[in-house]
Amino acid sequence: MTLLSVRDVRKSFGSNVVLESFSLDVEPGECVVLIGASGSGKSTLLRCVNLLETVDDGVITLNGKDITDPRVNVDRVRAGIGVVFQAYNLFPHLSVIDNITLAPIRVHGVRPAEARQRGMAMLERVGLVEKASAKPDELSGGQQQRVAIARALVNSPALMLLDEVTSALDPELVGEVLDLLRELKDEGMTMLICTHEMGFARQVADRVCFLDAGRLLESGPPAQVLDAPREARTRQFLSRLS
Ligand code: ADP
Ligand code: MG
Repeated sequence: MTLLSVRDVRKSFGSNVVLESFSLDVEPGECVVLIGASGSGKSTLLRCVNLLETVDDGVITLNGKDITDPRVNVDRVRAGIGVVFQAYNLFPHLSVIDNITLAPIRVHGVRPAEARQRGMAMLERVGLVEKASAKPDELSGGQQQRVAIARALVNSPALMLLDEVTSALDPELVGEVLDLLRELKDEGMTMLICTHEMGFARQVADRVCFLDAGRLLESGPPAQVLDAPREARTRQFLSRLS
């Protein structure tokens, strides 16, 4: 069954229509990469999926369940979705392990001992067990993003949403984060990723989607969309990057 289905979604802020007739399906284990100019609606799409924004029209289903239904339990939906944003979204006053266990304990009612055990397992997974007691500012930007990824993984989400997770990093720190995402993909994690890293998109994406002014203009395997785009707008966008 399709894991995530976005159907005819429309989202506007005032008179600014940010997503229009937007439809996208993501299958279990699939890695879908969203590309497009700044302002094309990529972050808004992820925020609608994570219920940080409400859609004006259309339906989003996760595992067949309509999550745009106003009666939905938002916390429960979010527990099934791991989210990582651009950067600097760890709580600076909390240790690494407390950053990871905060939501499981406070929001999802997991017992502290169990949350800690799961959190340590996730730190092990991202190779940062020895940093459990450190504060975020004692870590490099790349390590901080790996902690943010560990935090997003702690509820064993069915879907990961990643929004420009390397764009605030120094160039030499980008690789360790992309390597981790590549590993998650190989482990079968379903991911919806916004990125400007076209090399990464080419390697990990099962499908690349090009957004243009809130519409899904073209999508397909990376070799098609990135190397032989059908649409002039896609060609124009890609040529500006190189
Ligand atoms: P992208 O991630 O592709 O750069 P965004 O989804 O962030 O694009 O933004 C798309 C458009 O929506 C932009 O015009 C932006 O100014 C607008 N927008 C995004 N969030 C808000 C908001 N909370 N309030 C008003 N306008 C917003
Ligand atoms: Mg964005």
